[in-house]
Amino acid sequence: MLMSAEAYRDSLRALSPRVFVNGQQVKSVADEPLLAPGINALGVTYDFALRPEYEKRMVATQQGSGRVTNRMLHVNGSTDDLLTKLEAVRLLCRESGCAQRYLAHDALNALHQGTKRADDEHGGERHARFLAYLDDVQARDLSLGIAMTDAKGDRSKRPGQQVNRDVHVHIKERRADGIIIRGTKAIVTGAPYMHEFLVMPCRTMTPEDADFAVCCAVPVDAEGVTIVSRPAGRPGEAAARFSNTYGQSTGVVMFEDVFVPWERVFFAGETVEAGFMTTSYATHHRHSCIAARAGFGDLLIGAGALMIEANGLDTDRHAHVRDAMVDLIKIVEGFYACGVAASVYGTRDPSGAVMPETVFSNIGKLLLATQIYDMHRLAHYVSGGLIVALPGPDEDHNPETAASLSAVLAGRPDIPAEKRLDVARFMEDLTASNQGGWYSVISLHGGGSPEAMKREIWRNYPVEERSALVERLLDRGILDEGKRTSKQPGRCCETGCEPPALPARNAAE
Ligand SMILES: Cc1cc2nc3c(=O)[nH]c(=O)nc-3n(C[C@H](O)[C@H](O)[C@H](O)COP(=O)(O)OP(=O)(O)OC[C@H]3O[C@@H](n4cnc5c(N)ncnc54)[C@H](O)[C@@H]3O)c2cc1C
Repeated sequence: MLMSAEAYRDSLRALSPRVFVNGQQVKSVADEPLLAPGINALGVTYDFALRPEYEKRMVATQQGSGRVTNRMLHVNGSTDDLLTKLEAVRLLCRESGCAQRYLAHDALNALHQGTKRADDEHGGERHARFLAYLDDVQARDLSLGIAMTDAKGDRSKRPGQQVNRDVHVHIKERRADGIIIRGTKAIVTGAPYMHEFLVMPCRTMTPEDADFAVCCAVPVDAEGVTIVSRPAGRPGEAAARFSNTYGQSTGVVMFEDVFVPWERVFFAGETVEAGFMTTSYATHHRHSCIAARAGFGDLLIGAGALMIEANGLDTDRHAHVRDAMVDLIKIVEGFYACGVAASVYGTRDPSGAVMPETVFSNIGKLLLATQIYDMHRLAHYVSGGLIVALPGPDEDHNPETAASLSAVLAGRPDIPAEKRLDVARFMEDLTASNQGGWYSVISLHGGGSPEAMKREIWRNYPVEERSALVERLLDRGILDEGKRTSKQPGRCCETGCEPPALPARNAAE
């Protein structure tokens, strides 16, 4: 059943996770002011699914079970689903800054694919277990935290080589009724106000590191789980025009000998298929990140236009500010177009789930990861210095200064100073406050650092096909002799590796 935001908040009261924020233990997550902006942001994903005008985007029917579900928990059955998810994530993030719940969508899709592949290879009931879990999550309309990024320790060493084994989550013990896991996930979005965590491996593992290839579902209040979290957004700050209402908290999640029964374990040492699942998650997630940051772009474009207006400028007469706005639009719609292309060229996995095309998904995420800094620059360019220089909101009510400040800080005569300051504070909040920095860093590293995208692009792009094209045009015939080899990973031999077919439009339909 689809929940409302209010029902979601209430459902958190039934849980008792061990959460610390700013050094204090939280008594009730649902009632903690420091977490309220995060709970509000997730609330948008619930309430929007109940609004008739958003139903097509926000609600889906799960193929196979026929379960009606929030789009953020749906396993894609067509390329149309991919495009609709993209639109849904953009819709949610332009409202809430970052709706956070799309990570669950990305993980559920990857698990659908990975568990099927593992069963096909080894036999077993992972996929059936996962389908039962999926149905339960959809039926209860849960919020899932994705616990993938391990603390990692020394980055130059593999998990099994670390001095402290607990810098990665791993299986400590296998029992007849389940497994005991231990270790630390360092960055988990929305950790305190989720219902459950999906623990997933953060990299491909070698056979020696099989105990680190673990994937399972853990309730947030399972015994042995501790969440050490940041506040969400800028709660209680009057100047935080947007992020005192909407924000994201991230938590370090420590698993100290947590028992997980077998029916909630999806991988326990299957290194190859767990690696495939992690890579699939990355593609789904990068596709979602494109839409999330396009939603953020919508906020900057809107605020930029209002600042120009309030400053008394006219984009028809003042071409340089119009050019800056066009550059901003070009960036946002440019990476969003990669998401659309990745949807259109999506392909069906043997599990039946449809996944976005890899190269376009990675290019879109790579573009936004670096161009987020240009987005902020352009927003600052059209706004002027006021966004970081304006007096604080307490001055708005100071009888000594309010009237005279209001008289001199207005721009266009028909726009009151209060409106100009309001949009300036909004712009500061999104681009020049600690939350502005947060939007930069999540764009750069969330979903994987740029090098990870570059590797995926190089690994999947059909360079050989392009070389063959030119060889044919040059009429050299080298390919015909079967001598060409590639330095791309997985394509280094003459016979063993099949270049993937070029994406076909609507291949998954
Ligand atoms: C706001 C935010 C929210 C997030 N939410 C989630 C979440 O909900 N769930 C989740 O699981 N993760 C989440 N992440 C984590 C995100 O996926 C990671 O930040 C990302 O994968 C990079 O990992 P890292 O932060 O540990 O950086 P590092 O791995 O330390 O990387 C830092 C730099 O070092 C380079 N580097 C790292 N290792 C090597 C190596 N062995 N050789 C050469 N270069 C190397 C990287 O390329 C990068 O440039 C979130 C991140 C942010 C910022």
